[in-house]
Amino acid sequence: MPIRILPPMLANQIAAGEVVERPSSVVKELVENSLDAGADRIEIDIEKGGAKLVRIRDNGCGVPQDELVLALSRHATSKVETLDDLEGIMSLGFRGEALASISSVSRLTFTSRTESQSEAWQAQAEGREMAVTVRPAAHPVGTTVEVVDLFFNTPARRKFLRSEKTEFAHIDELIRRIALARFDVTLILRHNGKAVRQYRAAQTVQEQERRLAAVCGSPFMHHALAVESEHSDVHLRGWICSAQGGRPQNDLQYTYVNGRMMRDKLINHAIRQAYDELLPAEQHAAYVLYIELDPRQVDVNVHPAKHEVRFHQARLVHDFIFQALYTALRQHGDPELPLAES
Ligand code: ADP
Ligand code: MG
Repeated sequence: MPIRILPPMLANQIAAGEVVERPSSVVKELVENSLDAGADRIEIDIEKGGAKLVRIRDNGCGVPQDELVLALSRHATSKVETLDDLEGIMSLGFRGEALASISSVSRLTFTSRTESQSEAWQAQAEGREMAVTVRPAAHPVGTTVEVVDLFFNTPARRKFLRSEKTEFAHIDELIRRIALARFDVTLILRHNGKAVRQYRAAQTVQEQERRLAAVCGSPFMHHALAVESEHSDVHLRGWICSAQGGRPQNDLQYTYVNGRMMRDKLINHAIRQAYDELLPAEQHAAYVLYIELDPRQVDVNVHPAKHEVRFHQARLVHDFIFQALYTALRQHGDPELPLAES
């Protein structure tokens, strides 16, 4: 075969292979867009585990009519302009690929209105060339993205979808993670028309603890120690506890780096080492930890789905987390902790 440039639809479908693994990946990308748009209320409607419908409605800044075509195009983003922006990135998105990818493997409509517009507009991309059509619509300030029939045109992917229940469980877990990342945002999750979670925006410490309890359960709250520590401009806060929080199916190990959910080997290693002899090998640690540092000290552009980060000063971050937690776990004398052998 001669060398050819892929038609946009196929190029987008290939890109979708990396980020859109299942319905919960769609929810992740769309909710992150809503958060980047400054929304403080996000409604998530799911039908049939997300295979039939994922609808995210937010009260963020919206997209102006004349940018709607771009919003659905690949490599189009309002979040970075230069390499320098990328290296100090504060937004959750920056790749400019999610909407193009998702719309190449589903029927996606994007309806939006900005503060300065008197009416809303709806955009949809179609065909091999993914030409975007824009028409007037009714919508308050903010955005609704509807993703219908995910993977309808990529049967190989569709085959990998699990049961409705399993797919919804992934979405529920994702929303729990986001609920702990952003206490200031109201999140409403419905499945097949039924409200499943309602996390109200939490301002006061009590309200925040109520959300923490709603997400992690009361056994977690019962054993949780609040931690807070700072060293060389790296800031750590959150909760750590000795006993697994009473939900064996859920490992309750949540870490965030500059507001981004992470599963990071380095951080996990530091935490596990901090427990050391306090925790039997077969028992899991449970924690919700927030690490904040200069965005220039972390590279978030490691993985298309952004599950990983790379710390420029990995050793320093590791040792700081270890030290902070090691001290916290031993100072508080949690009665649940088995005594260390001396
Ligand atoms: P990225 O988030 O990496 O920029 P996306 O494909 O997810 O790429 O989105 C493309 C652009 O569309 C964003 O940069 C943003 O300007 C706009 N956008 C997407 N979703 C929303 C939303 N819910 N509210 C406002 N703007 C949005
Ligand atoms: Mg995005």
